[in-house]
Amino acid sequence: MSSHQETDSSRPVDDVSLTDFQAKIRAMYYEKDVQRGVDGTFMWLMEEVGELASALREGSMEELSGEFADVLAWLATIANVAGIDLGQAVRKKYGDGCPGCGRLVCVCPMDEKP
Ligand SMILES: [Zn+2]
Repeated sequence: MSSHQETDSSRPVDDVSLTDFQAKIRAMYYEKDVQRGVDGTFMWLMEEVGELASALREGSMEELSGEFADVLAWLATIANVAGIDLGQAVRKKYGDGCPGCGRLVCVCPMDEKP
C-alpha cells in the first residue's frame, strides 16, 4: 500500500469537494456566466431542474446521473455569479446537523420542510 492511499483513505481518490467543483466551474465558465448574469443563469438552472424531473420519471441511470451533475453545475455557476462560496454556505447551514432541529438525524415533524 502506498503512502498516498494511507493518507487519503477516508476519501476516494477521484472524489471532488464542493469547493473544488465550484472552482472548476468558475475556471471553465466564469466569463460567460458573468455576461449572462444571475437572471439568465437562473433560467438555465430551472431548465436543468426540469430535465432532472423528466429523468427521475423515465430516464436511464446514466441520464439521471448526468442531470444531477448538470443541476449541481448550474447551481455552482449561480453561486459564482452571486459571490457565494457553496462549501462554506453548506458547512455553515448544515455542518452541525439539521437547521430545523439541530440533530444529525433529523427529528423534525414530517409536515415541516426539513
Ligand atoms: Zn430536523
